[in-house]
Formats: sequence, C-alpha cells, structure tokens
Amino acid sequence: MTSQDLSAFSEMFRELASMFRLYGTEEQKASTLSAYFQTFQDYPLERVRKGYEQLKTTATKWPVPAQWIAAMPKGVLRERPLMDWRQMKASDEAERLFYEGELCTCSECADANVTHLNLRYVPCLDADGAVIEYWHPNRNKAVLLGEWIHGYPLTR
Ligand SMILES: [Zn+2]
Repeated sequence: MTSQDLSAFSEMFRELASMFRLYGTEEQKASTLSAYFQTFQDYPLERVRKGYEQLKTTATKWPVPAQWIAAMPKGVLRERPLMDWRQMKASDEAERLFYEGELCTCSECADANVTHLNLRYVPCLDADGAVIEYWHPNRNKAVLLGEWIHGYPLTR
C-alpha cells in the first residue's frame, strides 16, 4: 500500500474495529490504525482488502496484524491473469512436446533456411524483456506464456 491507500485502509480498519468492538480512545485507535497501516505497507491494497473481507466473515474477535495477514490470499500467484482455453491448450501441447515442434516449411521458415530445424516453443516477453506469467486454472499453477517461433529466430 502507499500513502494514497490510507483512507481506503482506514475505512476497513474502522469497520472491523466497530464489528469486533475494539476498545480504546479515539487517540489509541488512531495510533493502532497507523501501526497496522505501517505493518501492511508491503502488501498491495487489494490483498489487504481480501484479508479484510475474509476477516469479516471468519474472525471471532479483533484481529492482530498476523491474523489479518494470514487472512490475505497466499502469494501473488492468483493475481496473475487467467489463461483462456486456447492459451491452456497451446501451453499443454507445448509441454507435452517438450517445447520442440515439427519441421516447418512455411514461407517464414523457408526464407530463413530453417526448414531442417524443429520449431521451438519459447516464452513470450513483454516490452521490458520480462517473461509473462499466466495462471493456468485447470492445473492451478502459474505458467509462462509462450509461442512457437518460426523463421530467423530459429537460427539463434
Ligand atoms: Zn514455419
């Protein structure tokens, strides 16, 4: 969270404080709020909010920070975009082939003189050159988005 998330966080904090009857003066509550906010600063607001929603239904008393953190979704894996069925199919197929395809005679491969090389399935990169992770809902794990390369890239 950043300082801009303070008001959104305050709302969640006040809601829980009232639901679970947090005792103390306004001053004490304000200092608890700021301590909690600092503790959760490494977590994105959305995860803090999911923890808050979870606590609303499962907590039986005012949560200490460790309980709030435990109520947040684990890891960031689930926040990756979901693969659609085409992407899942392509990814499963590539894995089954150990990322090596057949020989290809398309014009791209013919122009690059690589019709004797097996196609390769490689991770797609984003504009910063980083791999792109998707969530594979059927297998419940993160996988790299990939593509079959043809033509000149195969010579590398
Ligand atoms: Zn080709």
